[in-house]
This record gives sequence, C-alpha cells and structure tokens, in this order.
Amino acid sequence: MIIVLKPGASDAEVEQITRKIKEMNLAPFVTKGEERTIIGVIGDERLLQNKPLTGFPGVEKVLPILAPYKLVSREFKKENTVVEVGDVRIGGNKVIMMAGPCSVENQVLLTSIAHEVKESGATILRGGAFKPRTSPYAFQGLGEEGLEYLAEAKAATGLPIVTELMDPRDMPLMLKYTDIIQIGARNMQNFRLLSEVGSYDKPVMLKRGLSATIKEFLLSAEYILSAGNHRVILCERGIRTFETATRNTLDLSAIPVIKQLSHLPIIVDPSHAVGKTDLVAPMAMAAVAAGADGLMIEVHSKPEEAYCDAEQAMLPKDFKTLMVQLKQIAAVIGREM
Ligand code: PEP
Ligand code: MN
Repeated sequence: MIIVLKPGASDAEVEQITRKIKEMNLAPFVTKGEERTIIGVIGDERLLQNKPLTGFPGVEKVLPILAPYKLVSREFKKENTVVEVGDVRIGGNKVIMMAGPCSVENQVLLTSIAHEVKESGATILRGGAFKPRTSPYAFQGLGEEGLEYLAEAKAATGLPIVTELMDPRDMPLMLKYTDIIQIGARNMQNFRLLSEVGSYDKPVMLKRGLSATIKEFLLSAEYILSAGNHRVILCERGIRTFETATRNTLDLSAIPVIKQLSHLPIIVDPSHAVGKTDLVAPMAMAAVAAGADGLMIEVHSKPEEAYCDAEQAMLPKDFKTLMVQLKQIAAVIGREM
C-alpha cells in the first residue's frame, strides 16, 4: 500500500508512521517529493488488519497497490526512474546506446571496438567476461582477465561498462570492475542471484527471460528493489515463440506496456532478439520509435571471427550509419540520442 501524507507533514510525523510500520514487521519506503511525502509499505499486509494507518497525524490517504509487484509499479512511483551511471542518465529524455562485442576476446580488439562505438555515439561499453553458453564445450568467457580488459577499455575511452554476472560468488569482482551488472535472460528467475545484486548499490540491468511474461519479468525486478537496490534497468531481448525465422521474437509491445506498468527504464537488445545482423537495424529503429530508453547492440570489427554470436554482430561502420538514423527517429518523438 501507499500512504500519502498531507502537504507539509512534519519529519516527526513521518518518523512516527515509519516506526509504527516497522513495529508491525513491514518495510516502509519513504519518498520525499517536491509537494508531499509518500510512504510505500511492503510486506504481508494482513499484518495490518484492524490497525488502520489513516488515523495517524499527517496522513491524507492510504491507497492499496493492486499490482503483484509493488516497488516496481507505476502505482508506487509516478515519475520515471532515472538510473545514473557516471554522466550517463538512463531513463531520461536522452535515448542511450550500449554497444560492444558479445564477449571480451582480447584487449586490443576490445579497446579498438570501444573507441569506434564511442565515436559513433555509444555511451556505455558492453562485453561478456562470464558467458552463459548453451553448450558446456562452447567458449565460456575469459573471466577476471576479461574484466581487466573491460577496465582497460574504460580507462582508454571513459565509457562505463556493463557485463554479466552469473554466479553470486563473482560479486566481489563485479563490485571491483563493472558499472552496471547485467543479469542475463537465463538467470532472470535465479532469485538468489537477484537478491544478491539487490543488496548492493550498483546499477543492475535485468534482461527478460526467454519465456517470461511481463508480469514475471517485473516480479523479478521486484526481487532486486525489495532487497534495497532501486537502480534497475529492464531489458527486452526477445522471447521464444513458434516463429523460427528469427532467433527470438522481439516483443516491441513490451515497451509501452512496461512504461504503463512500471517507472523503471526499459531498453531493448535487438541483437539477441533477431540473431541476424541485417535485421538488427530495423528493429533498433522500431524500438526507439516505440519509446525504448536505450538500446544494447553487439558490434564486432571482424564478425566472422567472433567467438560467439558471430551471425548477429554489426560492423562498426554499419553501427555508425545506424546511430545517425536512430538520432533522427528519436528527434521525431521529441527525444535526444
Ligand atoms: C548477452 O547480452 O550477452 C546475453 C547473453 O544475452 P541474453 O541473456 O539476453 O541471452
Ligand atoms: Mn551475445
């Protein structure tokens, strides 16, 4: 539920209500707006039965949150959440671009791709050091060595980095090296992992599971927020359907649906959605037109030699052309890019 306080409610009144909520084994989340303060109450609301909070001084009204996800919902927070990563603001007017290779392969290649995507307008560098591969015999990523290369590419270009975490035991490495922790599609419902990243202040990019509904996706995000970390970015990356012409089916409608249901930023990964280089650009443009707050695109200077996802990597020169087109589309809908 949400407790809306009267304009000008005092700190002492806020304190009295939050104390009461905690006494009832519920968790209060206080948001101080320009005009008024609201307090979100999370937990088993049956604990509140017969103990109405409406009577407390300073309270204007108490509203239930009907959605199963609470902190993530638009009902809980009306304004869009902006996740700040260095100078990059994800969820604001500017549509942001994350780009880079599927996996980190070597330092020279990574840094050169980083320079190229930066020049074209990307503001975050992607690259996997721990790779979730379907086959145990496929390249699994360079591990910490890969994270070191990412850190070097960041030092050379100034681009913050996003990289995937698969195992909570690697959390100390993530805290040391990365700016955004990526939770991949295959781990969207690894609830222990979600709670783990929820207990730190590092931004988290949560990718939609291969067969997850939007409700399940938002409930997974709720795990992270309810553990205390509100710096969450959602990522639509295509879902499994009966269609086999593309690797997955990009659910474009998820963008406006999620915008209605949640205040969290939503970005789109067209590379993993379509799985074919030629199809990445049209779907990237469609995603911006549909209101995505950003994109994540795989770029490789020698796609034919890429260790993984070679069929979907864009050449840096094609990425550059795409960025020009995306800026035009963003301008049409009143956004910058
Ligand atoms: C990735 O972005 O590197 C990746 C593995 O994507 P997904 O989890 O969406 O398959
Ligand atoms: Mn990939």
